[in-house]
Amino acid sequence: MSALALKNLTKTYRNGHVALRGIDLEVAEGDFFALLGPNGAGKSTAIGIIASLVNKSAGSVAVFGRDLDRDPNGVKVNIGLVPQEFNFNQFEPVEEILVNQAGFHGIPRRQAFVEAEKWLRQLELWDKRRGMARELSGGMKRRLMIARALIHRPRLLILDEPTAGVDIEIRRAMWKFLSDINRQGVTIILTTHYLEEAESLCRNIAIINHGRIVEHGGMAQLLRKLHKEHLVLNLAEAPARPPQLKGFTVIAANDASLEVEITQDCNLHDLFRQLEAQGLRVIGVRNKQNRLERIMLDMADQRKEAS
Ligand code: ADP
Repeated sequence: MSALALKNLTKTYRNGHVALRGIDLEVAEGDFFALLGPNGAGKSTAIGIIASLVNKSAGSVAVFGRDLDRDPNGVKVNIGLVPQEFNFNQFEPVEEILVNQAGFHGIPRRQAFVEAEKWLRQLELWDKRRGMARELSGGMKRRLMIARALIHRPRLLILDEPTAGVDIEIRRAMWKFLSDINRQGVTIILTTHYLEEAESLCRNIAIINHGRIVEHGGMAQLLRKLHKEHLVLNLAEAPARPPQLKGFTVIAANDASLEVEITQDCNLHDLFRQLEAQGLRVIGVRNKQNRLERIMLDMADQRKEAS
């Protein structure tokens, strides 16, 4: 069974802005999944819909087979959400925040204290349990958000940019914690605009851009694609038929121009030799960015602006 299935998920905000343009996505149970994309791509909107914080315009959401429209409570009990902003009461003691959240999910108070202790210890907040939330450091507040999302033992944990503004040491500790609970069986989905973060944690990935899924698959497969380049070759004359090339993939052939996908370590002489053997002379070569590369560069630019 899939942990999450989105079909044709669409969102138009009241001001007419189309944030999601029909998203299809499936996340397997037990997966560690990244939803990657530049700012404004639609990641938070998608998560907001799954967590019942935003109304969808069309399409369907199913969490462990429960349909969001028909069984919203069945969806809610299975999801723990860690939103980007700290949205707990800053003037409440840390332990109370967890116990009250457990109460909200119908967990009896005595058991709630047991659960709270388990997560506070695991997230190294136990010593801080009596203090007010506002006394915690940024990294501790982030961990409190995670503890609160896990208090009812959801099978799916969704984190929206969990490490934004978190320093590298705390980020690493958080990654380890998330990997551990994933190994214990919790399916995890996180949004990020750090490719490195997705790379170190996630097995599968979807890339969203302008409200559309532009890539969906295994992390390793995506990285392989990123290491490929596109070359546009200008030929002396248009070939009578598309050339047959061993070890190279022809992406497009228009008149006298040929677009070829190459790996970074391939031998270009070999490419030219094969073309010549088929009577084709190359008179010009240029690199073309592939679509994925462009999206990644957008994300890198945004990070530069943010820092
Ligand atoms: P991401 O999380 O990938 O940065 P969002 O889901 O926050 O992207 O936003 C997707 C698009 O929807 C953006 O263009 C954003 O400006 C727009 N948007 C988000 N929230 C609202 C809203 N409440 N009203 C109108 N437009 C919104």
